[in-house]
Amino acid sequence: MRVAVFSTKQYDRKYLGPIATAAGHELVWLEPRLAVDSWLLAAGFPAVCVFVNDQLPASVIGPLAEQGLKVIALRCAGFNNVDLEEAERRGVAVLRVPAYSPHAVAEHAVGLMLALNRRLHKAYNRVREGNFALDGLLGFDMHGRTVGIVGTGLIGQTLAKILHGFGCRLLGYDVRESPACRDLGMKYVPIDELLAQSDIVTLHCPLTPQTHRMINGEAIGRMKSGAMLINTGRGALIDTHAVIQGLKNGQIGALGLDVYEEEAKLFFEDRSGEVIQDDLFMRLLTFPNVLITGHQAFFTQEALTSIAEATAGNLTAFERGGELTNRVKKL
Ligand code: NAD
Repeated sequence: MRVAVFSTKQYDRKYLGPIATAAGHELVWLEPRLAVDSWLLAAGFPAVCVFVNDQLPASVIGPLAEQGLKVIALRCAGFNNVDLEEAERRGVAVLRVPAYSPHAVAEHAVGLMLALNRRLHKAYNRVREGNFALDGLLGFDMHGRTVGIVGTGLIGQTLAKILHGFGCRLLGYDVRESPACRDLGMKYVPIDELLAQSDIVTLHCPLTPQTHRMINGEAIGRMKSGAMLINTGRGALIDTHAVIQGLKNGQIGALGLDVYEEEAKLFFEDRSGEVIQDDLFMRLLTFPNVLITGHQAFFTQEALTSIAEATAGNLTAFERGGELTNRVKKL
């Protein structure tokens, strides 16, 4: 199948290239993001392959469908960037990679927790400058602390297993409870109770109209004073303005982000020579208790291999008219 691959990076060519080519697909590598101003690049292609910050509103899906688009293959789990209603109306299948390596993201979330707790980001610089003082680096034992996991799907469950190993007390909030998490001793509670009791709150639910800015000023006000907030889900799960207020008044004791609401304008590119125009993002960087990574939680060798295999498999299943187990449907 002829596939226009948007947001191509060197690692996509390395991992997806050989696997998809061996499966008989012809990939055309495109570096731009798919958006209203770039969709013409894919005109006439039966398939597009896209990533987290490609934009597929009705104004992109519609014209592409008229030009012969039949399938959208996401190289990721989240699908909040696709207008599913329009895709369905136009008969365009949307396929995703539901599970590539939940370990990659769960382990990264733990990395953020530990780094913030033990101030590793500060210690790294201090030691390099010959400053071996410990003031300001005081942390806490993870053992015995309460961690609230919002969204106990694949990643949330994997994280729960790791934190169980640390000896943490686990609270969960999800619209569907996970027996695997309950077996670990997780207690499911309403979101307000989770926020009130957790020393660390970590977000692992998808971005939907129901979860959009679920961590707003009100939710932050319900959190334990000085608690840590981790977001490796999607940027818009939190209201950045409210989080900045929470950091300023100490209600949020530490913030670890791998995703940011306006990340499409920043992430995945080297902008070190540019003046960054996003004042909100730059304000976040000024806090000593904030650690931000640029949407790299998924970025492991295992995850990239798994994403490539699943994406090629999705395209092949579609081409052969087989069962589309990874099809995304509007709820
Ligand atoms: P999953 O579908 O296995 O689990 C999501 C869980 O969220 C499910 O248990 C679901 O019931 C729950 N949920 C849905 N709506 C909810 C709501 N309103 N309130 C509470 N819980 C709700 O997905 P996953 O593989 O665990 O991934 C979770 C999210 O992580 C993805 O949607 C994606 O946005 C994000 N993600 C980020 C990265 C990264 O690199 N940072 C990588 C992969 C996934």
